[in-house]
Amino acid sequence: MEEYLRLLPEYQNIDLEKLQFERFLFGFFPAYQNSPLKMPWDRILPIGDSAGGQSPVSFGGFGSMVRNLKRLTLGIDEALKVDSLDKKSLSLLQPYQPNISVTWLFQKTMSVAINQKVSPNQINDLMSGVFQVMDQLGDEVLKPFLQDVIQFPALMKTLPLVNPKLVLPILPQVGVQPLLDWTTHYLSLAAYSGLYPLGKWVKPLTTNLSPQQQYYYHRWLDSWKYGSGGDYNEN
Ligand SMILES: Cc1cc2nc3c(=O)[nH]c(=O)nc-3n(C[C@H](O)[C@H](O)[C@H](O)COP(=O)(O)OP(=O)(O)OC[C@H]3O[C@@H](n4cnc5c(N)ncnc54)[C@H](O)[C@@H]3O)c2cc1C
Repeated sequence: MEEYLRLLPEYQNIDLEKLQFERFLFGFFPAYQNSPLKMPWDRILPIGDSAGGQSPVSFGGFGSMVRNLKRLTLGIDEALKVDSLDKKSLSLLQPYQPNISVTWLFQKTMSVAINQKVSPNQINDLMSGVFQVMDQLGDEVLKPFLQDVIQFPALMKTLPLVNPKLVLPILPQVGVQPLLDWTTHYLSLAAYSGLYPLGKWVKPLTTNLSPQQQYYYHRWLDSWKYGSGGDYNEN
């Protein structure tokens, strides 16, 4: 709090004496590394922040809920119709999304642990460097990212173009394990981007499946679609 008040005059260009404080409002943003949260019970489905599906970079839980509204509405409707309400079936409505998991590393590059010391401009320089590259690559890369939808092609084009001088200093800051975890999610993102068109392609073959099997097929297709950012171009 003292730090906030110390920096406030410079940040907001106003003297503290000129301000009249009415009340202090705090909020915190929940974000879960092992997102989404796993529900251990049948017939219960967390929605919104309690599901833990929001991006750890933007924390836009409301935006995330709106983005997933169609998927959830149709999925819940189908789960109720075919009576697939056990915990395993419902967990498919809160699928792993690699394009959200990859953002954990981005969040880590933007945060400094209590015992860490980083150069004062490191985070801003990195962000400016990344955004400059995305800007040069055009709206097709920049816009989905700004709307919280991470897609493999955009990431693949952006990362190699970011100045290594900006990237290397963050490696000791984030550590090896998060980097390895990120690589797994990055590869999953590539796989999901390939699985989604493949999944759509086999759709005609699924008409003979039982309603429960179709429910599973639709949920997998949704997870590949949303997990690869395929919803951005279709919704
Ligand atoms: C300061 C701030 C700014 C934000 N800005 C943005 C933004 O710009 N864009 C964006 O997309 N998101 C933003 N968010 C996040 C967004 O507000 C949340 O993601 C969204 O409100 C989550 O909705 P929800 O219905 O899941 O949960 P909530 O809105 O938290 O609703 C949960 C409700 O459950 C009630 N409750 C809790 N426990 C119990 C209980 N035991 N019994 C009964 N009721 C209970 C609570 O009182 C609450 O009303 C912001 C959040 C904060 C704090």
